[in-house]
Amino acid sequence: MISVEEARLRIIAGLIPVGGETIPLSQGHGRVLKEDLIAQTTHPPSHVSAMDGYACRSQDLEAGSTNLMLVGQVAAGAPYDGTVGQGETVRIFTGAPVPEGADVVIIQENVKVTEAQGLGRKIHIEQTEKAGRNIRPAGGDFQSGALGLKAGKRLTSRDIGFAAAMNHPWLRVYRKPRIALLSTGDELCRPGDPSLATSSAKIVESNSHLLASLIQSCGGDVQWIGLVKDDTESLATIAKEASHADLLVTSGGASVGDHDLIKAVLGGGGPDLEFWKVAMRPGKPVMFGPKLLGERPAFLGLPGNPVSAFVCALLFLAPALQALQGKTDTISILPSARCTVPLPANKEREHYMRASCSYDVSGQLNVTPHPDQDSAKLSILSESNCLLKRNAHASEVIPGDLLPILPFHNPLNFGDLPI
Ligand code: AMP
Ligand code: MG
Repeated sequence: MISVEEARLRIIAGLIPVGGETIPLSQGHGRVLKEDLIAQTTHPPSHVSAMDGYACRSQDLEAGSTNLMLVGQVAAGAPYDGTVGQGETVRIFTGAPVPEGADVVIIQENVKVTEAQGLGRKIHIEQTEKAGRNIRPAGGDFQSGALGLKAGKRLTSRDIGFAAAMNHPWLRVYRKPRIALLSTGDELCRPGDPSLATSSAKIVESNSHLLASLIQSCGGDVQWIGLVKDDTESLATIAKEASHADLLVTSGGASVGDHDLIKAVLGGGGPDLEFWKVAMRPGKPVMFGPKLLGERPAFLGLPGNPVSAFVCALLFLAPALQALQGKTDTISILPSARCTVPLPANKEREHYMRASCSYDVSGQLNVTPHPDQDSAKLSILSESNCLLKRNAHASEVIPGDLLPILPFHNPLNFGDLPI
């Protein structure tokens, strides 16, 4: 058996990032940049006012209290042609270019305006301000040619705004990895299948639905290739349909029973298989095979029990999707929470327990594992909001001990959400 971390590193090492494509900015959310994004413009393009007020010369304000003469007005979107001379001021609005000669903007709340109308009226300023006050300098955000976003960045809504500001209507990103998905098991039916009503030996196939949604949330495109009987020939035939995928993901048939054929059929006979037992609970039978040229794409075999399939998908498939999109530095530092119950010492397999975490009034994050850890129960998985991780050979836990958790609010856990 190998450790979870070792298995994850081997999977990442065995995958080749997919190619790139150019997409409109509007479709960039959640995608991963294939190339550095360099600013195509300077922002702001000139010194602009950060406030509504009056632009003037800081030297004129040194006395502390002064009267200036209004000589013009400038709003966002058009330059001011004139210059602000000694004793003069220009009405200015947020975002407007600061006129030549002016080096400070006094906010309108801090001035008194004489009753006279129009240009020539007196603007009384009571307090002095330093040069540069309320002015955003040209290039203060970024300069044209500056590195804005690095290749490998998964784009958040904040990044999309930044890319737009840098004048990028198009983005060069990794294309979405194509993930072929199949489930095996003679007992399985698709939801809604009429045979479910007549046979108590059949169950609804749920793994592919869970996995498909997880794959999509990690930036992948799902190619459902089917539900396969526990039969060598059918499995070999249908697996051929995955030939154009970047990764084939299977669930079920991964164990050591007579009907568990995945290893024999997709493992390339054995030597090409990277591993098939990971020291973890739930989910020991997990397999990974790198791409077999002319035969099948890279392959990840997940266990059939729904909770095991989910836990393995979180620990291996999510990082695999990241690796296919060029990201190999998966984060393994987990937040910790105070366990509310005693737990026995753990044996040699890492244990990922379905659990609920929440903050108490003092701001402390607490976690309580569910008393039922059956790896077949989706109801408990759905109710949980995190996994509580027990390290291999961890000693017993007393209430109040801090333990690592994997919160589900971040479906990747090993990377940032595209918020
Ligand atoms: P297996 O890994 O094929 O031995 O399956 C382990 C358990 O998971 C069995 O009880 C299966 O019925 C169940 N199972 C396997 N595949 C799926 C699936 N795609 N959806 C729901 N349950 C499954
Ligand atoms: Mg089976």
